[in-house]
Amino acid sequence: MSPSHPNSLWAATATPAVADVPLRGEERADVCVIGGGFTGLSAALHLAEGGASVVVLEAGEVGSGASGRNGGQVIPGLKLDPGELEAELGSERGARLTELVGGAADFVFNLVRRHRIECDARQDGWIKACHSEAALRAASHTAEDWSRRGAAVEAIDRVRVAELTGTDAYIGGFVDHRGGVVQPLSYTRGLARAAQQAGARIHERSVAATPRRSGGEWVVSTSGGAVSAAQIIIGTNGYTDLAGARGPWPALARTVVPVYSYIAATRPLSDDLRRSILPKGQAVSDSRRLLRYFRLDAAGRMVMGGRGRTRESADRSDYANIIASALELYPQLGACDWEFVWGGKVAVTLDHLPHLHELAPGVHAALGYNGRGVAMATVMGKVLADRILDRGAPVFPESPLRPVPFHRWRRPVFELIVAWKRALDRMEGVNRRGRS
Ligand SMILES: Cc1cc2nc3c(=O)[nH]c(=O)nc-3n(C[C@H](O)[C@H](O)[C@H](O)COP(=O)(O)OP(=O)(O)OC[C@H]3O[C@@H](n4cnc5c(N)ncnc54)[C@H](O)[C@@H]3O)c2cc1C
Repeated sequence: MSPSHPNSLWAATATPAVADVPLRGEERADVCVIGGGFTGLSAALHLAEGGASVVVLEAGEVGSGASGRNGGQVIPGLKLDPGELEAELGSERGARLTELVGGAADFVFNLVRRHRIECDARQDGWIKACHSEAALRAASHTAEDWSRRGAAVEAIDRVRVAELTGTDAYIGGFVDHRGGVVQPLSYTRGLARAAQQAGARIHERSVAATPRRSGGEWVVSTSGGAVSAAQIIIGTNGYTDLAGARGPWPALARTVVPVYSYIAATRPLSDDLRRSILPKGQAVSDSRRLLRYFRLDAAGRMVMGGRGRTRESADRSDYANIIASALELYPQLGACDWEFVWGGKVAVTLDHLPHLHELAPGVHAALGYNGRGVAMATVMGKVLADRILDRGAPVFPESPLRPVPFHRWRRPVFELIVAWKRALDRMEGVNRRGRS
């Protein structure tokens, strides 16, 4: 089933949808992009700006995948530290990749400015908040690693993290001043509009089948028509398995584990409450194995996210954990009404890195942002566009398709892993409370 917008805070408050129609009949383009999220739309925008003709096919609506559902936290960097990237790729390639990923949040905020995208963008910083001594050691290392490279990343202690977050649940962490927030669906729609203005054609409600070769070109069929193109981009991330074996590239779906993340949002908080929570407007992700991430939106609602069940759900009882974690951090939210609950699929890779593939000559894909796609998928769209436009030496390494072992059993396996991680997080919480 094609994703449509859930009844989310973002769907209720976004700028208007882009105007377009499903694909009807045959079209030609230099590049056909499958997927209307950050990856696909950023690729379409940069390709069209570079002079290529582009058609985007989106199964649901622009942003109805993860791009219009996420926490809107614009986080620079990857889960691996710069030093780890350099160890993995060698110093020169690692350093270039570090520059790319370290600049990912700036890249988003610059695009927002350049295209005048209305999306409540604020670059006030992103906080990594630590719940255990081990996590704090790792975070201090990350902060030091980045600041040694000149990045605006500042280690913070227990007092400072409490001042900035308004909770004493954390023992320190760091502020990455490059990060910030956007209204993610407005940002996605803004990217789509910018791509259209640059000449890209976007068709919603158009499910793409696997591209096939015909007459020296790739042909992508939908139920209403077909697009012929020399090159294809697949930007379907956690929704790659949407059309199953008829989807854009079945083997690609087996290289990531789609994991549900859930979010709950309150009604706008009173001024008093607002002053007591995240007074400087940063977004936060914590260090738990099942991380909690939270921020305020432009109207002062608490937006709290965390690991969901293994399915789409609008059932409020499925969000009890998320709301309980918000109340644990901020008991003053006890009387608040939680106005919206929704979730979406994140694509997780086993090596914690996004993957870039050339699936066949002229068929490119990028996916696997591990919950950091607001900045990183936008950047990867540009990386894909640059590859096709043949601009500059490639910075992001291409990897072979590596299927995740036991992919067929991913749901029960993942349920077990989640239960194990939850138990470890609880134990650490209990130990810390016992000591303090
Ligand atoms: C609840 C939640 C919270 C998150 N919070 C954050 C956060 O705060 N910060 C952060 O950086 N990241 C966050 N993420 C991750 C981030 O949203 C994603 O990494 C990012 O949106 C991926 O963008 P994408 O364009 O690659 O994929 P998506 O936005 O998922 O888009 C893929 C699109 O492909 C389409 N599609 C699939 N199959 C076909 C087909 N056959 N034909 C046509 N179209 C097809 C789908 O309909 C979908 O719209 C979160 C994700 C979720 C779900």
